[in-house]
Amino acid sequence: MSQIGHEMGHRWGAFVTAKAGDETIDLGPVHWAQGLQAPVAFPYRRPTEASIMGGGVWQDNFDGTYTQLDDDYYVPATGYSYLDLYLMGLISAAEVPDFFILRHLVPAGKDANGHPIFKADRTRVTIQDVIAAEGPRLPAVDRSQRGFNTGIVMVVQNGAKPSRELIERAEGIRKQWIEYFSITTGHRAIMTALPR
Ligand SMILES: [Zn+2]
Repeated sequence: MSQIGHEMGHRWGAFVTAKAGDETIDLGPVHWAQGLQAPVAFPYRRPTEASIMGGGVWQDNFDGTYTQLDDDYYVPATGYSYLDLYLMGLISAAEVPDFFILRHLVPAGKDANGHPIFKADRTRVTIQDVIAAEGPRLPAVDRSQRGFNTGIVMVVQNGAKPSRELIERAEGIRKQWIEYFSITTGHRAIMTALPR
């Protein structure tokens, strides 16, 4: 689910910037910056997950340091952040909480639970800052695509037939992918995997 959820996420991200004051801030590119506050809206498995497209879940310690509660790597599988879901056309701008980006990260030890701590500079970012840089998401949430279909292909040696095990495994991935997408989009979109 990590790989398929992440790669599908590249249909929409992660390439946007934000205009904060007279500064244009890169929130990626390609994957969300490590310091981007990117908690998921609808977690897949764990209570605290950072976007499957990168970023982190950061706790502000209010002393100039920040604790990384979840990191920017997409294994184990996580859900999509509010910003991801906005770019996917599944939530409105009003549903994206203000967030921030940490820059100039400098390692500063670990907490009692083993979570890394960093010193960093925090810059507030809002979805309106993203819209100021990129324009609004089109089509908007009320007219966006909600049904998606994934092609799943099995590859075997020329002339060979797929084994029962391979077919069962592909079927397992197909079923879990449909469930993953339903959970992580808050049931606002539907995934199918039908050959046509
Ligand atoms: Zn990627």
